[in-house]
Amino acid sequence: MSDCLFCKIINKEIPSTAVYEDDKVYAFKDINPAAPVHILIVPKKHIANVNEINETNSDCLIDIHIAAQKIAKQLGIAEKGFRLINNCGSDGGQTIFHLHYHILGGKDLGPGLL
Ligand code: AMP
Ligand code: ZN
Repeated sequence: MSDCLFCKIINKEIPSTAVYEDDKVYAFKDINPAAPVHILIVPKKHIANVNEINETNSDCLIDIHIAAQKIAKQLGIAEKGFRLINNCGSDGGQTIFHLHYHILGGKDLGPGLL
């Protein structure tokens, strides 16, 4: 998608601070961190959000979870834990319409969902 911010980040047309990359996913530091560790994981293939997941493209969800596990270990937050969040659509708070999961950690985030 030529006008998608995260596609441009994946293609290195817009700079980002990479923390992990493989052939399926890219992960980088959130520009406006909400916790001491705040990483975004995106599939390299453009998928707008969870509403567009189907039997053909759902492998990306496993790829994202495996990447999240590796990144958490790499950043030293696996043992104490972290939150893996997806926002879907405008009511869900999604502002960039390329599927992404937030990894938040590095402090006690508490039990709250809102
Ligand atoms: P969401 O609200 O779930 O769509 O999350 C979008 C996230 O992208 C927000 O946490 C933003 O801070 C983050 N963001 C926006 N632009 C950039 C950028 N250029 N580099 C890194 N993170 C970004
Ligand atoms: Zn995109």
